[in-house]
Amino acid sequence: MESVEVTGIVLSSMPVGEADRRLLLLTRELGKISAFARGARKPTSTLVSSTRPFAFGKFHIFPGRNSYSVHRTEIQEYFEPLVMDISKSAYGCYFLELSGMFARENTDESETLLLLYYSLKALLNERIPDTLVQRIFELKLLQLNGLLPEFSVCGRCRREITEGIFKPGLMQVVCADCAGEDTSGFPLSKSALFALNHLRAAAPNKLYTFMLTDEVFREVADLTEFLLNRSLDRPPVSREMLTIFTE
Ligand SMILES: [Zn+2]
Repeated sequence: MESVEVTGIVLSSMPVGEADRRLLLLTRELGKISAFARGARKPTSTLVSSTRPFAFGKFHIFPGRNSYSVHRTEIQEYFEPLVMDISKSAYGCYFLELSGMFARENTDESETLLLLYYSLKALLNERIPDTLVQRIFELKLLQLNGLLPEFSVCGRCRREITEGIFKPGLMQVVCADCAGEDTSGFPLSKSALFALNHLRAAAPNKLYTFMLTDEVFREVADLTEFLLNRSLDRPPVSREMLTIFTE
């Protein structure tokens, strides 16, 4: 039987039996897959470190009846500094879990994989606050899954818009003229809308190139939180760990 080579990252790794591990991989070629790593917990195994969460690289796998089995790995990036930092690894674990919640099986997940890779890299960049990396990651993940609304025109009069209020009922931004007295919803300043439109257009490797003031960040964060919650059936488990560092 021929092994298949896929590029991916370990999203989660569960101990099974005496010395094995069951992995959830996000791969470019096959989407989200489950893979069995035989003997991966034996200290002498070559799979010990390459089957831990965050390990990114090439995985040579054999297709099986219910799951794949990992035969050999060529890891390019372990994200070691991230794993060593308790706060950053909490963010990273959340990114892994959220990617797994949105990713599907047997589809091309190259965009999600790229987003995840550059977002984990951005956590290691000291110049960008982790809370901003989190919100950008969430917004882009929503966009990749068709769950991010348009922000460029008013949802009522269709005129181009530079600031306005996002209306949850309408799932669109409306301009001040159309909103009138009704100020309910998520207000979005010029800077916030500019940031949202910029993110929409940016490639994964160009996402983490700007900063926001506290005020604008709050606007973007509140809207992101709302959009994310309405798209999830259940809160991610790792989200609870994250609140320790963000609240
Ligand atoms: Zn309008």
